[in-house]
This record gives sequence, C-alpha cells and structure tokens, in this order.
Amino acid sequence: MSPAFRAAGAVVCALLLPLAACVPPPDSGPPDPGVNEARHADAPYVVILSLDGFRHDYLDLYPSPALQGLARDGVRAERMIPVFPTKTFPSHFSIATGLYAEHHGLVGNRFWAPDKQGFYSIGDREVVEDGTWYRGEPIWVTAERQGMRTAAFFFVGTEADVGGVRPTRWKRYDDSVPNAERVDTVLAWLREPPETRPHLVTLYFSDLDDVGHRDGPESPEVAAAVASVDAHLGTLVDGIAALPHADRVYLVVLSDHGMLKAEAARAQPLDLSPFPGVQMEEGGPYASLRVAEGGPERLPGLRDSIQALLGEAEVWMRQDVPERLHYSADARIGDLVILASPGATVVTPDRMPRRDAFTHGWDNQTPEMGAIFLAKGPGIVPGQRIGAFEAVNVYPWLAHILGLDPAPVDGRLEVLAPILGGGATAGEPGR
Ligand code: AMP
Ligand code: ZN
Ligand code: ZN
Repeated sequence: MSPAFRAAGAVVCALLLPLAACVPPPDSGPPDPGVNEARHADAPYVVILSLDGFRHDYLDLYPSPALQGLARDGVRAERMIPVFPTKTFPSHFSIATGLYAEHHGLVGNRFWAPDKQGFYSIGDREVVEDGTWYRGEPIWVTAERQGMRTAAFFFVGTEADVGGVRPTRWKRYDDSVPNAERVDTVLAWLREPPETRPHLVTLYFSDLDDVGHRDGPESPEVAAAVASVDAHLGTLVDGIAALPHADRVYLVVLSDHGMLKAEAARAQPLDLSPFPGVQMEEGGPYASLRVAEGGPERLPGLRDSIQALLGEAEVWMRQDVPERLHYSADARIGDLVILASPGATVVTPDRMPRRDAFTHGWDNQTPEMGAIFLAKGPGIVPGQRIGAFEAVNVYPWLAHILGLDPAPVDGRLEVLAPILGGGATAGEPGR
C-alpha cells in the first residue's frame, strides 16, 4: 500500500468509524510493512546484534568461533566504552541516539522524572512504550523519517513512539522468545523484496547479562552462554552470506556494558533516616538520591554529611558530577549522585547483601564495564583492530553508512569513519 493510499485510508477511517476502530494493533507495528523511498534503493543493509552484558574480555577468555570470524573479516575494538551509568537502558539508548544519558533522558533503569511527575522503570510497560519519555533521535527514527524502513527484534527504545515514530516493524519485549526464532525472523526480513526489506535491523540477546549476574564473569556458565550466543550469531552470519545481496550487508555486534563482582564485604549501608525527605531511588554501584524537602541550599550540607558517612565512595551534587561522566544536565538525575569504587556498592540498610553478587553500573571507564564492538561489511578493512572508543560515536557512523542525514549528537563521525578504509569523509563535530 502506498503512503498516499494509506493516508487516504486513515482519513476515511477517521470519518466513518468510531475512533477505537482506527487505532492500530498494539504490537509489532502496522500491518502494512511500508516501502522504502526509491532514493534508498542503493543503500546498504545494517544488522545490529546487541549482546547484553557481554564483557569485552569474554572474546579472549572463551571460545567464540563466529565472533572471532567477525573480527577476522572486519573490525574489532579493544573495547567500547559505555556511557555512565553502565546500565542496560541508558547504554543502549546512547548507542541508538549518539547522546549521553544526560541528553537522551534515560538516566537510569529506574528514575524519578520531575518533568513527567512520574517514575520510569524498565519493568513498567506503559512508560517503556511511551515515546514522550525519550529524547533525541534513535537511528531507526532518523531512518524512518527519511523514508527508509527499519525493523526491530528487540532493542531498548524500539517499542516506544520516540518523536512519534516507531520502527516499521517492532516487537514488544518478551525474554521467553528463543534466540533462534529472533534470528530466523531477522533473516526472513532480509530476504524480503527490496521495496519492503528493512535497511536497518536490530536484534538483542539477554543471555550474557542473565548468566553473568547469576554466576559471574569467570564461570563455566558464562562460557556456555558465550558458546550459545556465538552459535546463533553463526546462523545469522551464514544466513546473511546466503543472501543474493550479501555484499551489501553490514553486521555489527556490540554490547551495552560488562560485569563485575560486587563484594558483600564492600557494601556500604547508607541510613537516610537522619535526613528527612531524602530518598535513595537507585542503589548499588552508583546511587541516586532525591531530596524532596528543603531548597538547593540544603544540598551542600547534605553532601558533606553523607560523604563523611561513606568515606571512599564519591558524593556529588548533580551539577558537580565530573564532566567526563556527562551526567549533570538533566533534572531526572538525582539531586545527589554517589559513585562507589569498582566492586563496592552503596545501598539502603535493608538491602545489605549477605553474599557476593555480580553486577554493573560503575564508572564507565572501569575496564570490567567495557563492552564489545565488532563489525564487518562493505568497505570495512578486514582484520582491523581499533582502540577503546565511546559508544556515543556509533550513531553518526551508522547514519553515515546508511546515507542518512544525522541528528546533531554528542558522538563524532571522525571516531569510527577510519574503519571504512579512508572512503569516508568526516562530518562536523557534534555539540
Ligand atoms: P540490567 O541488568 O538491570 O541493566 O537490565 C537487564 C535486563 O533488561 C535484561 O535482563 C532484560 O530482560 C531487560 N530488558 C532488555 N530489553 C528490554 C526491553 N526492551 N524492555 C524491558 N526489559 C528489557
Ligand atoms: Zn545490560
Ligand atoms: Zn544487567
């Protein structure tokens, strides 16, 4: 169905039927997959696979033939530096938008938003799918707005109408969907005729995060999970290789953060009962405190008192969080931000752990928080190794290879352009 015909249909629908009958089904996007505008006919295809919690050194610790093959045929970064906080939602949405968390609005997996007068939480479907919580322009929105079709088998943000736009096809997150089914569906999308074939496809596996939290990064269970996701990646690689247009496909495999032992002996309880109106919204590797009573003049004294209680952990007023963490500019960030040393945590007294656990959320420069980035595709010189780089630089590179006009972002094309072997021209630095 052409866009014009579809628009006309919507008008007829609105005139003739009660409103409820015109509302599209809530899952998987509109029944009409839409078509690519003719100007994108020669654009390549990009498949992004996110492996939640795949720590950068798993590539060297555990056998992973498909990932090693990708490194051989393309580029591998020493590590990708996620944004702070090193949590799933902030990190994925920075990869998607090229913005630090202080600019894209997902400042944690859970946070209070004064502008919305509500809590965002990754388990709350209503907020997760409500685009008004999200700022910036994820790459699939950039593409859709420019007439290029996209499809998502999960990726943070793809379920929401960000700026009023969703991927042409998307799925409501359901961790029980087997990875094999996710891969098969993505390959089916890539086999579609060029008119409807999505140029950007996202895919997401949670296995390494699930198993890493439970058994720790140096465990046989993580080794087995690496082997399992690697086998699914192998199916994806083979499926792409069998496409008639295989030589136009980029495959990007990345992750959102690493994993580290949170030592029970280094957990610090923070008793907030002496401080009325102060609440901990998020605790652990970093903690976020909201101060509901008293004006801004109360904050320096509070900071000093809490710093004195905690000793080693750093306590900042939001506006004083060090520049390199890019975690100041949004009132959704706590009034006070606490950062524990790697391996240590700060929690409310009722959440004191009895045993060691495994988690993430620490300083994004911590090596164990490091993520992976590998890619192969047209123009990428095989066997390249690049140094550590920040995840916000992925968006401008994706926009570049897809031939899209990028939104203004924090990331810079200059960072990843060289992996294309000199064929790319560097864009203007972002803000
Ligand atoms: P965390 O380790 O707390 O940062 O969060 C990781 C969890 O996020 C994973 O176990 C996933 O089940 C969950 N997750 C990933 N993507 C989504 C999504 N789109 N909607 C809801 N939950 C998700
Ligand atoms: Zn994660
Ligand atoms: Zn996790």
